Amino acid sequence: MLDNLSSRLGHLVKTMRGHSRLTEDNIKDALREVRMALLEADVALPVVKDFVANVKEKAMGQEVLGSLTPGQAFIGVVNDSLTDLMGKQNDALNLAAVPPAIILMAGLQGAGKTTTIGKLSRLLKTEHKKKVLVVSADVYRPAAIEQLRLLAEQVEVEFYNSNSWEDPVQIALDAKEYAKKHFFDVLMVDTAGRLAIDEVLMEEIQKIHAAINPIETLFVVDAMQGQDAVNTAKAFDDALPLTGIILTKMDGDARGGAALSVRHVTGKPIKFIGVGEKVTGLEPFHPDRLASRILG
Ligand code: GDP
Repeated sequence: MLDNLSSRLGHLVKTMRGHSRLTEDNIKDALREVRMALLEADVALPVVKDFVANVKEKAMGQEVLGSLTPGQAFIGVVNDSLTDLMGKQNDALNLAAVPPAIILMAGLQGAGKTTTIGKLSRLLKTEHKKKVLVVSADVYRPAAIEQLRLLAEQVEVEFYNSNSWEDPVQIALDAKEYAKKHFFDVLMVDTAGRLAIDEVLMEEIQKIHAAINPIETLFVVDAMQGQDAVNTAKAFDDALPLTGIILTKMDGDARGGAALSVRHVTGKPIKFIGVGEKVTGLEPFHPDRLASRILG
């Protein structure tokens, strides 16, 4: 995903021998390597800058303890900074609501919202033994409702029918009412995406959010979006009280930098990653694994 930073830092680590403190001078080259590695991994520039500044601040003047080499001490600082940014453990879904626990999915068109609803419903049903209802409030894209219906059929969860002439807010409210009446544990609500951020889209999803009060509002973002992921994430985070992020298409040749970028601008945990088009292609996100992939 990201180039193994410690191998990149390898030769520098050797030249950093013999210092008992990390100083501006002896970490300069190492900081440059960190910056390059993050940029190559497609982390957005402002995020790279903040991150490198943070590493520098933490590293400067730090004593090199015991048997550590200065290079090892520096890598320790990078690791700590990554953990500070990404968190240590996976953040699980929060379903602690009076049933139904509502999960609202937000994101641009093509990000993978509908596919991810199929994957998550399957997971909730098979592993958590939840009774799941899904509904589509996407009345604009002709095939969207049908796509969700087929997915629901495939993963064997119930589909609440909606129609393209209905009001999206009303669809969500009706589905919630139905879910309550029929004792569903979880209701997953799909929403319309556009190709780019637009006001009308944001207002509509804000209205849906206000009407159904979801316990989870998940922002779905395509890891291949690279640098652009930052702007999209910021716009959705400003518009909605996001509770988590799902990063899709991590199976492709995405370089994973979007994970750092999106986390940095929203401060919200990445809860899952999408790793394929199939309904089984979803994994909990483990920040510590990302860190060790970077550091090797
Ligand atoms: P939506 O417009 O946000 O609902 O996006 P869709 O769910 O329709 O997904 C758009 C495309 O991305 C589809 O072709 C999906 O099969 C594909 N897709 C979604 N998630 C993943 C993933 O994790 N990996 C890969 N390789 N493809 C994905």
